[in-house]
Amino acid sequence: MKKKKFVYLCTNALLLQRKMKDYKPSVYLTFSIHLDGNQLRHDTSVCQEGVFDKAVEAIRMAVDKGFRVNVNCTLFQGEEAKEVAEFFDYATSLGVEGITVSPGFSYDHAPQQEVFLQRSASKRLFRRIFEFGKSKKWPLNHSTLYLDFLAGNQTYHCTPWGNPTRNLFGWQRPCYLLVDEGYASTFKSLIEETDWGKYGTGNNPKCANCMAHCGYEPTAVNDALAHPLKAFQKFIQGPGTDGPMAPELPVAYAEEKSSATAAGLPVDTGSAQANHNG
Ligand code: SF4
Repeated sequence: MKKKKFVYLCTNALLLQRKMKDYKPSVYLTFSIHLDGNQLRHDTSVCQEGVFDKAVEAIRMAVDKGFRVNVNCTLFQGEEAKEVAEFFDYATSLGVEGITVSPGFSYDHAPQQEVFLQRSASKRLFRRIFEFGKSKKWPLNHSTLYLDFLAGNQTYHCTPWGNPTRNLFGWQRPCYLLVDEGYASTFKSLIEETDWGKYGTGNNPKCANCMAHCGYEPTAVNDALAHPLKAFQKFIQGPGTDGPMAPELPVAYAEEKSSATAAGLPVDTGSAQANHNG
């Protein structure tokens, strides 16, 4: 923060009330608090009762003290659009500055593989959510083109280097979601020596159902910079909620069951590809 870098401090907020005295409100600091929906949904998602209430108390306290606060929401299988819309209404009423949303998806190390949404089911869900949102002012902290992608109206390749992950082991290849692909010791090595073509939907079965913002928001931003008029029109109109969906990317690897289907998730035959929200 001293370097004037923007820090999004991601937290489940369980200790935040106790630790908040260690921080000062700053334009460079945002608490990004994990809430996966209403009370029942969130507590079920994290397998612990009372977590939702604690997080909400921390949000109220942080907003009251003048901190920037974002709610980070991952949607899982079985979500109802109306319920999600009501949750967004509630999060907005808490005075948070932003809501980030992403569909959960099944990958090898997901703790609850059976609850992750499939790709086409996600798109239909997002269309219904955005229908409810037409008359609302949810502070969704995304580009309109990413939201349009979630609603199935854009065919995007993933840009995993758009949100690089660094942790104790080094720079994680290719993104924070895939944890078995190794680490680079330097950022230069991450960028120059990672075989990026191995990753992304259509390129890797582990990525088959991913629509996560860490990989696809950078693609949407690049698209907006390359096509500002298209981005402006979408900004005015909002994400599309009807009409045919944009085609899926072709699958470039030998057909094999991804972890999603292997885990017993239903395959949606309504999409061009048997596919898939943090
Ligand atoms: S598609 Fe998803 S899991 Fe695969 S590299 Fe991109 S962000 Fe990571």
